[in-house]
Amino acid sequence: MTYGLWQRALGSHQTNAYLVYDEETKEALILDPGDEKKKIMKVVHEKGLKPIGIILTHGHWDHIGAAAALRKQYDCPLMAHRAEAKLLVTPFYNHSGERDLRLTADVGLEDGQRIPFGSHALQVLHTPGHTAGSICLRLENAPVVFTGDTIFSDDVGRTDLYSGSDAQMKASIRKALKEWADDWMLYPGHDAPAMMADVRAGLERHL
Ligand SMILES: [Zn+2]
Ligand SMILES: [Zn+2]
Repeated sequence: MTYGLWQRALGSHQTNAYLVYDEETKEALILDPGDEKKKIMKVVHEKGLKPIGIILTHGHWDHIGAAAALRKQYDCPLMAHRAEAKLLVTPFYNHSGERDLRLTADVGLEDGQRIPFGSHALQVLHTPGHTAGSICLRLENAPVVFTGDTIFSDDVGRTDLYSGSDAQMKASIRKALKEWADDWMLYPGHDAPAMMADVRAGLERHL
């Protein structure tokens, strides 16, 4: 009944991709496969995992580069928050430039939605601000939350890109400060993980 977690910084922007999986059933969710699909496929193969979904914390180019290839490889649904649809399908908004990334999610997520894998589940926390459809993903019954580009170990995400909002970012930070426990480990889209207790003071400075 334990879960497994794998993390690696991938691509030119060193974006953290995560695999979270059930150790018994081997069902796995792929979070933010930004690039280097072969590295992800190698781990899936070595651990004998069965990917059942790909979840994007948001739609920026550095988080989505390998998503289409992995969806095809594993024939599993691509999931992102509903409010991220336009950014995902528009290279000008997702900043993919010459890579010309245009994605359409198979599942449009909403706040509070559960995404089960094996005997575990991730819960969608809608945290707009960095983009309108930015989400964090909480692992149920464990002190673990994946924070994308919303909250980093020593900073918060920028709000000056398409669909970003300073006011929404502040509201999302306020919600996290209120609802997230000190012993939660935050796994961000860039850089190292951090404990909520250690990022709390830094977050308050952004309000
Ligand atoms: Zn981003
Ligand atoms: Zn990023």
